[in-house]
Amino acid sequence: MKVKEIKKIVKESSYILIGLGASILKKVDPPIDPLNWDEIKEYNGFLSNTIDINSKISKIFNNKDYFIISTSWNSNLSDHIGRVFTPNGSCNKLQCYNACTEELWDFIDFKDRSSHPKCPYCNSPLIMNITTDTYFVDEHLQIQEKSYYKWIHKNYNNKILLLEIETSELDTKLIKGPFENIATALPNVTLLRVNSSDLGIPSTIKKQYSFKSSPETFFKLLS
Ligand SMILES: [Zn+2]
Repeated sequence: MKVKEIKKIVKESSYILIGLGASILKKVDPPIDPLNWDEIKEYNGFLSNTIDINSKISKIFNNKDYFIISTSWNSNLSDHIGRVFTPNGSCNKLQCYNACTEELWDFIDFKDRSSHPKCPYCNSPLIMNITTDTYFVDEHLQIQEKSYYKWIHKNYNNKILLLEIETSELDTKLIKGPFENIATALPNVTLLRVNSSDLGIPSTIKKQYSFKSSPETFFKLLS
């Protein structure tokens, strides 16, 4: 598909549901040891060395009614609070290892990173707020999930563009499957799959487009 057509589709869409795949920033694997402070620092350090999805989305979609679902562990989307659902959690939020509180802390607020920060209530170490942990604090994600479904229901009759960026088999349950189901069920919906390798969309979906591109190149094209 041609760049011009892709730009036109995005430009002409007022309602966009953006699905960001787990591998959008390439570091797919979840952290091995949630108690390892060096690993927490490494994951968060990785954020500053990749494409800034947070500001790219603000710039490209600022005049759209959009919502984002991201399965990436480390896609910082802090500018989109209220319009984002991160079902796997994210490395830049920290929680108490014992989950003694629902409270979360932003990694960025810990300026002195020489020692592992502790929970102010029970003195346990703070760990990444991601789904791999047994005591995953997910109260905030339930609120995000409600907003996600509310957005879909609100726009049920609108011409929604489902924009999938760099999804893989890891995202079948949370993004690819649900997006394909929505595109099959709703006649006004268009599915655009942008991916650096895997573009297959079931032929049962009528309004479908695919575009082979890395996320970096795609964001650059739309900027
Ligand atoms: Zn605690």
